Amino acid sequence: MDDLTRLKTAMQLITVGLCEKDRKKIKGEYFYSKRLIHGINIFQYLNYKYNQENFDFNQLHEQKFITDYAMKPVRDWFDGWKNTENLKLEGQEFYYMEELVGDIGSCMFYVNDCCEDYVQYYVEKDIIAGIEQRAVYDCLKLLEQDDYVYLRKYFIQHPIAGQGDLRRLKLRYSQNEMALQAIENAYEEIREDCYVCPKCGWTLKKEKSKMICQSRYCTESKPSKEELNLAKIERNDGKFRLKRGVMMYICTPGKLELEILKCCEKYKIKSSLWPELDKYDIEIVFDNGEIWAVDAKQVRNPYFLRSNIRNAGGFPEGNYQKALYVIPDEFKNEQTDYIKIIEAELEKIGKNNIYCVTLGELKEELKLKGTNRTKKETVNATDKKEI
Ligand SMILES: [Zn+2]
Repeated sequence: MDDLTRLKTAMQLITVGLCEKDRKKIKGEYFYSKRLIHGINIFQYLNYKYNQENFDFNQLHEQKFITDYAMKPVRDWFDGWKNTENLKLEGQEFYYMEELVGDIGSCMFYVNDCCEDYVQYYVEKDIIAGIEQRAVYDCLKLLEQDDYVYLRKYFIQHPIAGQGDLRRLKLRYSQNEMALQAIENAYEEIREDCYVCPKCGWTLKKEKSKMICQSRYCTESKPSKEELNLAKIERNDGKFRLKRGVMMYICTPGKLELEILKCCEKYKIKSSLWPELDKYDIEIVFDNGEIWAVDAKQVRNPYFLRSNIRNAGGFPEGNYQKALYVIPDEFKNEQTDYIKIIEAELEKIGKNNIYCVTLGELKEELKLKGTNRTKKETVNATDKKEI
């Protein structure tokens, strides 16, 4: 095995290990993750090889690794490393990750979005068998198109659901084993006191000094006391919530998808969700027959989206004239060259009908198309009157 492959393996094991430690935490006690330890050992083997002068044997301890590395941006992990040309560090996506975990004091941490994203996009399927969002997709994919759309939409619109709501949903699918399994895989009972997150609609839970949600951006938004008081959930309320992976990779991007759909409806432009069981997210058909295919991308790190596109060889083939990757406006505000990074990749793979735009830009285009059509209709109506 060459050192770059070793380093990538270490990153995979470390990110998965941190996620599973966080997920399987029981009453504040951390789960012992063999993967994390294995990942740390491989990383420290390389650290010793490339950075012998500064190597500290204490770093082999898990807790020391978490504070000295996992709580720092990944590029800082390589401070002092020498002769790293063969690792091509600056060409690796992991190099651009922020801190994998955040500190909540008393040797406790919470996992950041980028760590979860790395697992979602880069970790070998066999290492993460059974992750939450995949368990749901695997069931959804076996449904008829209408049921697929109904259930996926339901999950997006109900990050938290009451016992009665879920009972009614299950009754609707009482004859459909696969749909029932999808519902079962999507939700878990809320067993601790918490609050509805004002930002994303999932759950905020107090852990040590911080309020933790599924995303660090919720955690950092610091909701007010008044907001929280309105949103309290007691542990015995019989409420359910989406599992974290389902929330992050089905519900959150789903909100972006539904917003695009709503915009099409507003301008009376024909659109449909997840055609052919999710070939892409939205198909838009204009009056003149022109078709646009849209994939909503809730991927904050442009390098992650870039390699996602590279691995997929661009947009899925289809009967469309134009294909669009759509990102939330805030991603471009945070990283102004986001679109440029993606466009350079699209140019490289030679696709000239695929674009990357922000939600705001797509809305503007749809508005323009919708307004032009309304004008034409008005003209037609006037023409008819004259006749
Ligand atoms: Zn939230």
